[in-house]
Amino acid sequence: MRQSQLFMPTLREVPADADVKSHQLLLRAGFIRQNAAGIYSFLPLGKKVLHKIENIVREEMNRAGSQEMMMPALQLAELWQESGRWYSYGPELMRLKDRHERDFALGATHEEVITSIIRDEVKSYKKLPLNLYQIQTKFRDEKRPRFGLLRGREFIMKDAYSFHDKQESLDETYEAMKNAYSAIFSRCGLNFRAVLADSGAIGGKDNHEFMVLSDIGEDLIAYSNESDFAANIEMAPVLLEVKSSSESLLELEKVATEQAKTIEEVSGFLNVSSSKIIKSLLYMADGQPVLVLVRGDHEVNEIKLKNELSATDVALASVEDTKKWLNTEPGSIGPVSVSEEVKIIADQAVPYMVNAVCGANESGYHFLNVNPKRDFEYSQSADIRFVVEGDKSPDGKGTIVFAKGIEVGHVFKLGKVYSEPMKAAYLDENGKNQIMSMGCYGIGVSRTLAAVAEENNDDKGLIWPLSLTPFDVHLIAVNSKNAEQAALSDELYDLIKNDGFDCLYDDRPERAGVKFADSDLIGLPIRVMVGKRASEGIVEVKIRKSGESFEVPVSDLSSFIK
Ligand code: ATP
Ligand code: MG
Ligand code: MG
Ligand code: MG
Repeated sequence: MRQSQLFMPTLREVPADADVKSHQLLLRAGFIRQNAAGIYSFLPLGKKVLHKIENIVREEMNRAGSQEMMMPALQLAELWQESGRWYSYGPELMRLKDRHERDFALGATHEEVITSIIRDEVKSYKKLPLNLYQIQTKFRDEKRPRFGLLRGREFIMKDAYSFHDKQESLDETYEAMKNAYSAIFSRCGLNFRAVLADSGAIGGKDNHEFMVLSDIGEDLIAYSNESDFAANIEMAPVLLEVKSSSESLLELEKVATEQAKTIEEVSGFLNVSSSKIIKSLLYMADGQPVLVLVRGDHEVNEIKLKNELSATDVALASVEDTKKWLNTEPGSIGPVSVSEEVKIIADQAVPYMVNAVCGANESGYHFLNVNPKRDFEYSQSADIRFVVEGDKSPDGKGTIVFAKGIEVGHVFKLGKVYSEPMKAAYLDENGKNQIMSMGCYGIGVSRTLAAVAEENNDDKGLIWPLSLTPFDVHLIAVNSKNAEQAALSDELYDLIKNDGFDCLYDDRPERAGVKFADSDLIGLPIRVMVGKRASEGIVEVKIRKSGESFEVPVSDLSSFIK
């Protein structure tokens, strides 16, 4: 591609409303443009990278036995009513009416559509299992779209759904999907962890998120530095009523004191502007400690707190406010009720860091979104434990490290959550009617693009890994007005293309400085510069990532860049 013809509108200035590196650089380098809040166009360079990610996803999904298909973005409300999500999904679901006043939703995800297809078409165990995927645009009216492609309102997702007659079959597919995801994110060059995630109302522990370790991540994860142990420190509001012995009261106090920070420090650590914040507050009341983990301004809609207090609000809450918060709609924060006698003494509240997580619904392991009774039976004091950075990992291997993560993928055993209400049934070996089990597996394709950009850049611009770069080689005619240089550049352009590389050729009549700056900004891995030594048949080859450069005779160029 000749750069003189490429639509690549670059910007010199950092766009004012772009607050993370990937967003700034993707805008500046002309990969994307914003059309509305959380809604973007992919310009040619961005589209090329997207395409490469999609192809990696395709290859690994196909390899793992999933079949590609395509479902509509426009979905009948009836389907969502059948599953119940029409009522529970909240304002994140984009809803609209057609000219006949019929309700529709723009697909936020496709469990309903796929389940309706499968229940109509698959009647026998002989046709199971099935694993189907699509790569498609999704719509979610996020409360706070931000960070460019990382949290959009229209974005690209790969979503897969599997259907099974037997639990072992679901287990097998789940493992296959987890492995495929690891292969995909490795090929994208990302530093990631598969972390145990909250199963919420659905329950079960087979729920993993793929997290790219990143300072701008909105999730907080805890992992072992020496094993595969990793968990999302979920941000669900959890209330644990600890009817504990004085021993564990002392323990609580000890941890609280060790961890106690001023609320500002706590906020600073978690970055108050981030949308997911948990605050833990330890209240002492009547000799009975009550630990309240508060999710700040979180977007998950199913959790509707009557008094949605921000983290800071809660930290500073008066007794009355805190009571109000505790007194939320029944069921909205789990089966928890707080007796009126629990006298909360606000000024004794010790702001207590989140990175201490409590509870375990499977002893030693699952320490997130633990709602007593719903997730585990708790005895007097045994189930309360705190994990802080540097602790021994629950699996006994290594110590716990905390990090922020960007959720790029999510695999989840759904069981019969959709198949039951939507009546996706099959006949088993004995001719008996049975409900199918399901799994679902999502990857944020456009979010992955941004995560790669976020983790691969320097102060000059983007640095693409070989697997995702929009072009392999950036050929630059340093001075296109110099006939000799222009002629050699033209020749090399053909040569590089014939060698099978995708080459971007900067043939523009621009100053060398401008060309180099643009080249650094868009970040192709290899740059070939045809300059002063063109007459001697020598060009300069520069590696974007390391900054190394080499003088290479034209005759050696092909073998050099291979
Ligand atoms: P988040 O916790 O970030 O809101 P989610 O858990 O709601 O994500 P899923 O329903 O698990 O998302 O969707 C599958 C994948 O789609 C996510 O793992 C993520 O990579 C991607 N994704 C979700 N929401 C967005 C969004 N608003 N913009 C871009 N990608 C998204
Ligand atoms: Mg979400
Ligand atoms: Mg999530
Ligand atoms: Mg998720």
